[in-house]
Amino acid sequence: MNRSRKTAAVVLAVLLVALSLFFVGFSAAEAGHDCAGDSCPVCECMAFANRVLKTVAKVAAVSAASAVFAALLICIGREDTAFLRKNTLVSWKVKLSN
Ligand SMILES: [Zn+2]
Repeated sequence: MNRSRKTAAVVLAVLLVALSLFFVGFSAAEAGHDCAGDSCPVCECMAFANRVLKTVAKVAAVSAASAVFAALLICIGREDTAFLRKNTLVSWKVKLSN
């Protein structure tokens, strides 16, 4: 990953964390508000915050699963290339000859 992609990934992660903290703080601060009923704007904002937090949680879960999967593939790839480098047809022929 080059430097600009790393920077973009870090900025995106910081924005997601800041957004999540903002919505958690908003929901906590407005939990005991004087509700105006069905069309309460605070309740609508809290519902929006909950939807955003659920989406952020899903994105984080998918990202973590993708990172684990990528790490697994990298480990498997390294094992395969090491196996191929150690065991060639010529090396097996040499082993059989000795
Ligand atoms: Zn309300």
